[in-house]
Amino acid sequence: MTLVLRNIPAARQWVREARNSGQSLGLVPTMGALHEGHRSLFRRARAACGRVAISIFVNPAQFGPGEDFERYPRTFEGDLAMAEQEGVDAVFHPEPGEMYPDPLLVTVHPGKLGKSLCGPFRPGHFRGVATVVAKLFHILEPDRAFFGQKDAQQAVMIQRMVRDLNFPVAIEICPTVREPDGLAMSSRNRFLSPAERARATALYRSLCRAESLLRSGVKDAARLEQEMQTMIRAVEGAELDYASVVDARTLEPVSIIDREALAAVAVRFGKTRLIDNLFLAPEK
Ligand code: AMP
Repeated sequence: MTLVLRNIPAARQWVREARNSGQSLGLVPTMGALHEGHRSLFRRARAACGRVAISIFVNPAQFGPGEDFERYPRTFEGDLAMAEQEGVDAVFHPEPGEMYPDPLLVTVHPGKLGKSLCGPFRPGHFRGVATVVAKLFHILEPDRAFFGQKDAQQAVMIQRMVRDLNFPVAIEICPTVREPDGLAMSSRNRFLSPAERARATALYRSLCRAESLLRSGVKDAARLEQEMQTMIRAVEGAELDYASVVDARTLEPVSIIDREALAAVAVRFGKTRLIDNLFLAPEK
């Protein structure tokens, strides 16, 4: 049976009992509208930890004005069924008022890591993410927490937050789960019209093109960026936010790919914004 914890005292009580059992505790933070990408994280957590909690919380603090907080899909009954199927022990599912009884005065600033890639397009987003993840870590006290490579900037930032601020939690980043045609699974894919859904493969195709150019010896990051941008701009209805190659650890721009880099793209189709990324490893 998966227990649903709707408030912080109930969560703390559950954590106390889990800790007393002597088992390790795994946490997978999510915003719900669960898909196979989430499922892969639950499985990884189930395999690695004695007790597994997930959180389902559409975090208002990480949505800017005019973004899709209201329209973000909420499918709690189906989500709970997936959690049950995957043997998740507890689902933390608070209301916004439980997490934010008062406007926050103190928050976690991601510094430079919040400024690259999606940063300029989503001001305040990464501060909202860092802050809610810090809160979830303090409420649920996991030994290990699991995040997806799909949200690469978030993954890098959380790893740094944990290291820089000495959170006693190990972070595991799990591979991106894709549809058969390469589109990265996302709760937002359901908003795409059939035509947009077909065109949305442009994100992954552009990343693969960058990778294959690198394989053929093109190490100039600007060339790869240009190629990705051209491919995406050629797609009807695709509005490019960015297609960039950055250092995989610092997310700073690189000029020559001589260490591990990240190719990352963000593209809007109508009101739906999609992101994707791929590691680019230089030839040894
Ligand atoms: P979200 O519910 O979108 O906030 O995502 C919750 C967690 O699932 C985050 O760590 C995401 O990176 C991860 N995730 C989302 N989509 C995928 C995917 N397609 N493959 C792997 N992990 C994913």
